Amino acid sequence: MGIPFGINLSFCVKRWVTPALWAPLVAEDLGLDLVQLSFDLVDPAWPDGLLDRLAGDIRRETARAGVTVHSAFIGLAHYTFNQMLHPDPEVRDVAEAWLKRAYRVAAAAGITRVGGPLGAVASRRDGREAESLDPADYADLIARMHRLAEAARAEGLTELYVEPTPMRREWPWTVAQALRMAEDTAGAAVPWKFCVDWGHGTFEPLYGRYRAGMAEWYRALGARIGAIHIQQTDFQLDRHWDFTEPGAVDPAAAAALQRANGLDDVPVFLEVFYPFERDDASILDAVRRSAAILKPAFA
Ligand code: FE
Ligand code: MN
Repeated sequence: MGIPFGINLSFCVKRWVTPALWAPLVAEDLGLDLVQLSFDLVDPAWPDGLLDRLAGDIRRETARAGVTVHSAFIGLAHYTFNQMLHPDPEVRDVAEAWLKRAYRVAAAAGITRVGGPLGAVASRRDGREAESLDPADYADLIARMHRLAEAARAEGLTELYVEPTPMRREWPWTVAQALRMAEDTAGAAVPWKFCVDWGHGTFEPLYGRYRAGMAEWYRALGARIGAIHIQQTDFQLDRHWDFTEPGAVDPAAAAALQRANGLDDVPVFLEVFYPFERDDASILDAVRRSAAILKPAFA
């Protein structure tokens, strides 16, 4: 049995923005049948009537192209606002409400899983980053996660994901923090699992130079991992390069590591971002070549 392999629609942002554009592209140009939607393509803050129509478009075009949407992820636009760890509690409330709308959009589009990073605390004036989250902020975040799981269940969703990011101001950024969060969200109305990312768990400036990053996340989180983001990177920044670029991630070794940890059934999504000014044709070519490299590695 192969490891399910698909692509996050991050590469489509501002380019192939409708399912009539991206669904056939994924199926025919990339030869893939599995995607992860990005809310950079459909903003849950848009009016209800519009969102219902767009959700219908996703259902229709993916069925026509033979593409399954495994899950929907927050994307970069909403991620930039500090979300549920913003210093102002009213902004946190807006972020929580935004996620509840995101669950509704996902459900309307036939997507049963939603995930992404949860939030970022503000930087200090002196630039020093605290090692730990304020206990009150953490408790507030966990309470929101429980409320969100209730909302997700009411919409018929089956799973929610936290994507750990390699930053002290976001949460969780270590394996131990992730395990604690898993304990504190146990018994939520739908399971909170993790989406781990090859550019996050391997980030040497934060975690050190031992190059065992993903192995530790896989081993420690195990069945709590619901999805994996793969990208080419150099472990020095969260690059989100495609696999036409040289880097430290070996697709065959990545697949082997997953199998060695019993994660054969956890889907892997290529997640790549491009400068807005880069031309469409070269992106299409690079993503196509990357899919051709990765697909056999996970088959
Ligand atoms: Fe990611
Ligand atoms: Mn990333």
